[in-house]
Amino acid sequence: HAPGHFRTLLENSRFQGEKVFLVYEDERITYEEHYRRAATLARRLVDDYGVAKGDRVAIAMRNYPEWVVSFSAVLAAGAIAVPLNAWWTAQELAYGVSDSGAKVLIADGERAERLADTGVPMIVTRGAGRGRPWDEVMGEVRADVTLPEVELSPEDPATIFYTSGTTGLPKGALGSHRNLGQAPMTVAYSLVRAVVLAGKDPSGVSGERRVTLLTVPLFHVTGCFAALMGTMFTGGGLVLMYKWDPELALRLIEREQITGMTGVPTNAWQLLSHPDVGKYDLSSLSGISYGGAPAPPKLMERITAELPGRAPSNGYGMTETTALAINNSGADYARRPDSIGLPSAVVDVRVSDPTGAPVPVGEIGELCLRGPNVILGYWNKPAATAETFVDGWLHTGDLARVDDEGFVYIVDRAKDMVIRGGENVYCAEVEAALFEHPSVDDVAVIGVPHDELGEQVGAVVRLSGPATAEELTTFLKERIAGFKVPSHYWFREAELPRNPGGKILKTRLRQEVLAL
Ligand code: ATP
Ligand code: MG
Repeated sequence: HAPGHFRTLLENSRFQGEKVFLVYEDERITYEEHYRRAATLARRLVDDYGVAKGDRVAIAMRNYPEWVVSFSAVLAAGAIAVPLNAWWTAQELAYGVSDSGAKVLIADGERAERLADTGVPMIVTRGAGRGRPWDEVMGEVRADVTLPEVELSPEDPATIFYTSGTTGLPKGALGSHRNLGQAPMTVAYSLVRAVVLAGKDPSGVSGERRVTLLTVPLFHVTGCFAALMGTMFTGGGLVLMYKWDPELALRLIEREQITGMTGVPTNAWQLLSHPDVGKYDLSSLSGISYGGAPAPPKLMERITAELPGRAPSNGYGMTETTALAINNSGADYARRPDSIGLPSAVVDVRVSDPTGAPVPVGEIGELCLRGPNVILGYWNKPAATAETFVDGWLHTGDLARVDDEGFVYIVDRAKDMVIRGGENVYCAEVEAALFEHPSVDDVAVIGVPHDELGEQVGAVVRLSGPATAEELTTFLKERIAGFKVPSHYWFREAELPRNPGGKILKTRLRQEVLAL
């Protein structure tokens, strides 16, 4: 198969032999063992379930080693892997199953219960449920097992990942084998600059052995492509967590000699804020990388100050770009903590006005991306595909500007803007200004309906120290234009509602506070 093809990646990974690939609690799985299990399951899918090229096989589980084995097996069999969100309810899971038209489900016990009514054949691990037990399906795992025969080209579809559903119903992003093979390259092209500038590699690749702590789910692209595929590509180790827990993360960094941590900004923030952070030996850690959600500039400053010598890295990407597209790290990041950095060498950036024409340098427009990591389109959604993928450009739905050196700044989501008397107020800008206040722990800016102005600016704030609305107003007036300063504040003690990917659920928050 062509380079970059998943089967090539899998075959190559076998040369890592007895090196540890996956760590989960006390389990350690070597590259050789992973290959044998994946090849065995691929054969069972073809022989016992009649899975053929292009069929969809859904995976619904937590970050267990079997997730990885299943993913590898489905792709090696020439089928399309459909990772389902493990946090989804029975109803949401049923949507994923019917939307993708999955022929077989591979689930853990808890997900198997929620999937019981789907009627689709199921393989169950880590618990019981309707369907065949994993061990029974696998049978004997032989040393001489080979991959099933299948003809695949790089353009053939490989994955359907569901978007986070921040702006609406999750959409199935159809990615090709080429997209998948490209993902580690996109990261590599970004890292070259980071390593040159910082002498440090935020993902830990340049260390003796790269061991990544995975703090996010494998069913989103950061986990699967940036972390898992990156690990497989470089022959490193990947340490899995059942769920994010900052204390366990600290323990694992020490125990497993973690070199890099990959997750969302909230993970890094909570790790730094843990009261016991000083009690653990974190000397193996060469960097912390995060992305997938806006990172407050304070996060870069905190990592630099509180974990000296560790390179922070902010990656921008979406499900539609097979994870990373734009990256900020090293000296670049220190100079521009509010930027998402420079596009990876294989990614083209254009900032467009509503007609699709490029805007002048420095002006705000919609961020559009092009490159070998941009997916084929949305599964089963021709209208959304036609709207989002225009003349080879992916329209991200994010508002951005690019400075004269090519650094990209995310201004906001196109849908996360308050229009106050005709003036655009970008929630993200006001949030960043509020975050600079030492007493602000978390914040979300929302639009508040207003008869005269259409909308006014409101802020939901969680404090970690003393501050009043008047103080915050004075503080903000020194930093941002008056029309952007919130006229309403809601102070709350509870955490702001976030989806597990770290994104604030603004629709819910708006309903909650405006109903008061
Ligand atoms: P949906 O498309 O279903 O509404 P979603 O866009 O949240 O959900 P994802 O593909 O998981 O689904 O997230 C991509 C989005 O996350 C980007 O469009 C951008 O808004 C945001 N994002 C990702 N990385 C960063 C970053 N480093 N800084 C700021 N925002 C980011
Ligand atoms: Mg999106």
